Amino acid sequence: MRLIDAHCHLDLYPDPGAVLAAIEQRGIYTIAVTNAPVAFPACRLFVGGSKFIRVALGLHPELAHERERELPRFLELLPQTRYIGEVGLDYVTTEATDRAVQRRVFGAVVQSCAQAGGKILTIHSRRAVPDVLTTLSAQFPGQVILHWFTGSARQAEQAATQGCYFSVNPAMVTSPAWDRLLGTVSKERILTETDGPFVRIQGHPAQPVNVTSVTVALAKQWKCSETEAVAQVFTNFRRLLRTP
Ligand code: MN
Repeated sequence: MRLIDAHCHLDLYPDPGAVLAAIEQRGIYTIAVTNAPVAFPACRLFVGGSKFIRVALGLHPELAHERERELPRFLELLPQTRYIGEVGLDYVTTEATDRAVQRRVFGAVVQSCAQAGGKILTIHSRRAVPDVLTTLSAQFPGQVILHWFTGSARQAEQAATQGCYFSVNPAMVTSPAWDRLLGTVSKERILTETDGPFVRIQGHPAQPVNVTSVTVALAKQWKCSETEAVAQVFTNFRRLLRTP
């Protein structure tokens, strides 16, 4: 049974080589997100011909205000990959101008992905779920994974109705958002992630193998064995990949 890490910053670990080796050894399907267009070719080169790792092209919302001029480079690289992330909106900033830049960047990203079709997006939506869902609209022609979702139950329901998946990580397991999300969304919509190295486990950056702490919690929530929880997440990921 294969583990899934649908959102991992492989290029930001202190020792990415060790993490890469662990992914390969354990056979963990991993979406390696990047935060800026310049990081995409570098990460791809580093990952090489891995069977398990897919590198995603990103432009992180928290960097949008200083990297908006890299948007043309992002759009130029877009045809090279099916995987897009980390992208999205983050309204922790209360600066209207920063939020406006984020909306411009994310709007352009979504529009280009819609034109291309068939992309898989891993999206950051902190305090900005309504605007993220509006930008995507109900008919987005591709697959959307909402990473580290912290919205309300109603927002989760809305997102699920729009066809979104949710990737859940070890830091979420102990938060109020966890019960809210898992109580609302059907298990067919759930994926696992680490958001490593940002999420930490016992003082260390979470590694892809640590999605097992999430599958244990999912098993509890779903009242099944951990093996069944792992299988459910794998089935969800495979369905997502096979849907154009
Ligand atoms: Mn992230």
